[in-house]
Parts: sequence; structure tokens; C-alpha cells
Amino acid sequence: MENIDNNIYNMYKKLGISERVVDMAGEILSELDHRFAEIDKVAEYNQMKVIMAMQKNRVSEAHLGTSTGYGYNDIGRDTLESVYADVFHTESALVRSQITCGTHALTVALAGNLRPGDELFSPVGMPYDTLQGIIGIRKEPGSLAEYGITYSQAELKPDGSFDYDAIRAGINGRTKLVTIQRSKGYASRPTLSVERIGELIAFVKSVKPDVICMVDNCYGEFVETSEPSDAGADLVVGSLIKNPGGGLARTGGYICGKKEYVENAACRLTAPGLGKELGASLGVNPSFFQGLFMAPTVTAAALKGAIFAAGLYERLGFKAVPDSKEPRYDIIQAVELGKPEYLTAFCKGIQAASPVDSHVTPEPWDMPGYDSKVIMAAGTFVSGASIELSADGPLRPPYTVFFQGGLTWAHAKFGIMMSLQKLMEAEFLF
Ligand SMILES: *Cc1c(COP(=O)(O)O)cnc(C)c1O
Repeated sequence: MENIDNNIYNMYKKLGISERVVDMAGEILSELDHRFAEIDKVAEYNQMKVIMAMQKNRVSEAHLGTSTGYGYNDIGRDTLESVYADVFHTESALVRSQITCGTHALTVALAGNLRPGDELFSPVGMPYDTLQGIIGIRKEPGSLAEYGITYSQAELKPDGSFDYDAIRAGINGRTKLVTIQRSKGYASRPTLSVERIGELIAFVKSVKPDVICMVDNCYGEFVETSEPSDAGADLVVGSLIKNPGGGLARTGGYICGKKEYVENAACRLTAPGLGKELGASLGVNPSFFQGLFMAPTVTAAALKGAIFAAGLYERLGFKAVPDSKEPRYDIIQAVELGKPEYLTAFCKGIQAASPVDSHVTPEPWDMPGYDSKVIMAAGTFVSGASIELSADGPLRPPYTVFFQGGLTWAHAKFGIMMSLQKLMEAEFLF
């Protein structure tokens, strides 16, 4: 053991990590055994869930083929969708490379199920940035607002709990669909557990039984042993370049849920009357199947990285959200770094530890749609894939870095140690 530890230390040294950082990492990790064991158990359970769904659907070599043109009778694509439906315990699923990203998946689910005169309601406050454009909270051509679909929301209470009175008051005769965002995204509220989502859905249905409850499941997949669809959600929606693609999916999104609602979404993605029957898979089937197979352990790696980072940075006096002791319901970790130099150094470390583009230096830039400069680090195999180790943050107080992902725990650990190394080298901390 001593020998391998020495060898690992030498490797870190060659890669530019100092003894001090390695030692600190070791100290933090020795306190995290219990958390890591829990994460491994969840991954084990979810791995079995995925394998069971694949075996039940008799996934075969023939399903790893491809289709072109219209894509009629693509048995690989259709079987993959049955597997997703079984993993999420839903009647149906739409899993496609033609779904561009998470925002598009949400758009398709919303626009497919809402009609002029309907109202969309969020009981958990303001939704994710890009959703605001879809809904028309921020004026965009083609938004739901332009089609006569209105929107309202109830804020969470200051302590993060649901405001049941406001929710009851917010649901009216026109409320057709309720959108619930599981992850906090870049907001400061807590991420919702599946259990809390279940309580919320039960309440919403007690007020209006026929309302469609949709959950934006981005970053939440496989973090727990159940999904929002196990807790009453009629639709769950997410991106394949986050958790469920397991790092292997190169694009895509999914919508799982009640048959009728998934069909409505499919008719929006393709065309009315065509639905799920069309859509050439163009060779993505193997990566979608294998990515789903990898997703439980990849999600576990990302979670370990997040908790490790929280522990490490807390020890240095920074505020980690969530902290290293709190239960986790998504893979996003925020650390309030307090100074722009720290934020930049952190991102440089993540970039320097990447398998791709490790030699480039991230710089803050004026990203469209943001009111301050943003710095981003992502040395990813799949462009912009945030299931791979990546970090970003706006250059404004409190200079919070948001980071997520890590296809393997060893890489997540290395990346986080390198972030600290860069802080140290700039002599910001020591
Ligand atoms: C990532 C994300 C989305 C979708 O974002 P895309 O970048 O379009 O994939 C939506 N909601 C939440 C909470 C997210 O984290």
C-alpha cells in the first residue's frame, strides 16, 4: 500500500500538485468514507435498475444498429425508449438525438402539451434562465406567451419550504401544467429531493387532479434511488449531456411520462400525425444505451467530487452550498470564493486538469445574456457536456463558482486538487 501511495504521490507531483494539497485532500477524504459508501450503494441500486430494464427489453446487438432517412421501424431507438420508460417507471419515453439540449426537451414537453388559453404554473419560484425565454418571461420570438399561453408562479418561503396557500391560490381553471424544477440550477434555493417533489405533486393534485405535473429533472437523475416519476410526476424531462447520457451521449434529451403526454411532445418534436414513428437515429443508439448503462456510476463519481470539494473548501473557510454534510439531490456544487482572482484561479485549475484542452487558459468574457463577465472551464470530450468536470461563474460578488461533473472519481479528485493548487500558486491563500 505504502508503495502505491508513494507512486500516486509522485504522479501528482509530476502533474503539478504539491505535497501540501495531496495531504489536505487525504485528510478531508478520511472523513468522507461514510458518505462515499452511501453514494456507492445508490449507484449499485441504480445500476441494477438499469440492467434490469435492459434485460427485460431484451436489448440485443441488433439494437445497436442505425437508421437513416425517415427512420421508420428503428428497433434500437424504440427499444431504448422502452428501456428509459422502465428505468423511470413511466408508460412511455421519447429519447432522441433530435432533442438539442435540456432547454429544447423542456420546450417540446411544454409546447406539445399546452394550448392557447392554458396557463402554466411554477410552484417553486422562478425557473431556470433558459426556461424564462421559452415561457416568455423574457421576451423571445416563439415563446409560449406569443401563443396565448399565460404563466404564473408561487415563490418558495424564505426558509425554502413550499407556500401552500400561494400554490392553492395560484392554480385556477386554466392551469393545465405545473412545472417543478428539481435542481436549484444557479439559484440560491435548495435542490428538491424526490420525496419533497412527491409531497408537492400530491398537494397540487389535491387542488386540481387533472393538472399535468412536469419535473425538470436536469442534474438529478440517479442521485437518489427513485426519480420524480416514482413520486407522481406525469412527465420528467432532461438532457443527455448531463447525468443520464453517462458521458457517452454526444447530444440529445429525454421526456418520460404518461403515454398521452409523451405522444403530444413527440408530435411537437416531429409533426402532428408523425409522433414517435419518425426520426433517424444516425448511429447514436450504441452511445445512448451504453451511456445509460454508465450513468449510475458516472453520477456517483460526480457526487463524490462535489462532496470532496465542499469539504476541502470549507476547511479553508469558504462557504460551500450545499455543505459537505448535507444530503445531495443533484450534482451541482457551489463555492463562494469571495474574490474574482480566486474564481479565475479555480477555473484555471479545473481546465489544467482536463483530458482535453488542458493547455488553454480560461479567461472571463462577455457572454450574451449575462450582465457581468463569465468565466468557464471545460476540457470536455463532448462540447459543453456538464456531466464532465466543468466549472463556471459570473464575475460578480460573491464570486461563486458553480461546478459539476466528473466522469470518474479519480479525475474529479484531481481536478479539484488542481483548483486548490492554482489558488495556492497565486499565493492567495497561504
Ligand atoms: C441544464 C439545465 C437545463 C437545460 O439546459 P441546457 O443547457 O439547455 O441543456 C434546464 N434546467 C436546469 C435546472 C438545468 O440545470
